[in-house]
Amino acid sequence: MTYRELYEKGKSALATAGIDEAELDARLLLEFVCGTDRNTLLVHGDRDVTPQEEADYIMLLHKRESRYPLQQLTGVQNFMGLDFCVNEHVLIPRQDTEILVEEVLQNLHDGMHILDMCTGSGCILISLLHYSNNCTGVGADISAEALEVAKQNAARLLEGEIRSIPDMDGVHEIELIKSDLFENISGQFDIIVSNPPYIQTSVIDTLMPEVRDHEPRLALDGSEDGLLFYRKIVQESVIYLKQGGMLFFEIGYDQGEAVSQLMEQSGFLEVRVIKDYGGLDRVVYGTRGFGMTVS
Ligand code: GLN
Repeated sequence: MTYRELYEKGKSALATAGIDEAELDARLLLEFVCGTDRNTLLVHGDRDVTPQEEADYIMLLHKRESRYPLQQLTGVQNFMGLDFCVNEHVLIPRQDTEILVEEVLQNLHDGMHILDMCTGSGCILISLLHYSNNCTGVGADISAEALEVAKQNAARLLEGEIRSIPDMDGVHEIELIKSDLFENISGQFDIIVSNPPYIQTSVIDTLMPEVRDHEPRLALDGSEDGLLFYRKIVQESVIYLKQGGMLFFEIGYDQGEAVSQLMEQSGFLEVRVIKDYGGLDRVVYGTRGFGMTVS
């Protein structure tokens, strides 16, 4: 069978299964299996595939038909121009989250110390460290499996810049810590950033099957009103933020008002809501005021 014939087969199988981007997914899975790129279909579509390639592709098509996310099959997702490894233990980095990273980058200065609360794949913290100079960071997550993924990403993407990950000697440029929120965190930070779980529990069952059935619920579920983690992080961050330090959150489209209120009530100054490219509220941030005390 030729490359193009196999692609056509994949495309129609995924379309029949009701996959939205059947064409794209069929091509990307084939490229993943054959180690090819997008030109192959255009220029070398008549080359033969091996029986092994065909078998591997069919196996992945079946998984995609049963709604495994594409990125869990290929094992990668690009975020901020960097390829992050992903698996079923981490939330797949979303393009919307790049807005959060861009906002932090605008306020990040050389040498700052950053805490990424609920780091998951590490995509936020690792991007921030990659695109800044001499900053150091701590990534915290309750999931040991997620931290393994973050560690792998840090080792790959900060290669050359990385001075230490836990278990290694040297200056700690990035530290990945298993922690239920701030439980095992110490020190003070210039910036705390978080994309915590923020979906209301009752809404999770209405999400697309790729998310609902295959992404970690722990990374999605923000309790009954979706705000549990914002409440806890806002309250506790005061202890871990230097005076004048900043707290940044990704939020759901309808949480701008509630999260800004939480921050203002805790004494954060200059609280702002930023929209994403779709015009929806996506980021809230504010500054720890002088003299703010723990409530
Ligand atoms: N910080 C990670 C991300 O933005 C994980 C977020 C989460 O698990 N809620 O992708």
